[in-house]
Amino acid sequence: MQIDEKGLIVLASSRVFEIVEVFLAIGLMLKGVAIRYVILIIGIALTFFMVSIFGFFMKLFPLGFSFVWDSLGFSLTLLVAYYSLRRMRLEPPPLPKGCRCAVCSAFIREDHAFAALKSGSIILFFDSEEHMKSFLENFEEYKKLRGLRIERVEWVYSRALGKWLSLEEYQRL
Ligand SMILES: [Zn+2]
Repeated sequence: MQIDEKGLIVLASSRVFEIVEVFLAIGLMLKGVAIRYVILIIGIALTFFMVSIFGFFMKLFPLGFSFVWDSLGFSLTLLVAYYSLRRMRLEPPPLPKGCRCAVCSAFIREDHAFAALKSGSIILFFDSEEHMKSFLENFEEYKKLRGLRIERVEWVYSRALGKWLSLEEYQRL
C-alpha cells in the first residue's frame, strides 16, 4: 500500500503522542498518584493506538480523522493526568494503626488535627501542625534523633488545609 508524505506525518505525530503518553504514565507513577489512574492512561493510550493503527492500515477512515482521533486520545490522557494530580493533593494520607507523632511520640487518632510530611514513599505523621512545623525547623536534629533516612521533605499535608502542598508552597503561606 502507498503511504504518502501526509500519511507519514500523521503516523509519526500519532506515535509522538504515544511516546509522550508512556512518559506521562511513568512520570505520574513516580510522582505517586493512585495506580488506577496510571492504568487508565495506559488503557486509553493502548485503545486509541490499536484503533488508530487498525483503521489506518485497513483504510477504515481518512487521514484527517486518524489525526483527530489520536489527538482526542492524547487529550483524554492529559485530562486524566490532571485529574489524578488534583486528587492526589486532596486525598488525606492513610493514618496507620498505632501511629505516633514523629516529634512528641503521642499516639495520633483520626479525629486529631494531624499533619504529615512526605519524602519519596515515606510519610511522617504529627499529632498537630505545630509539631510538624517544629520538625521542619529542626529537621537535622529530629532526623538524627529518630534515625530517619530522608534527604528532603517534598510534600506537606495538614488537616486544617485539607490538602497536600509542596514544601515551597507551604512555606510561602
Ligand atoms: Zn506531637
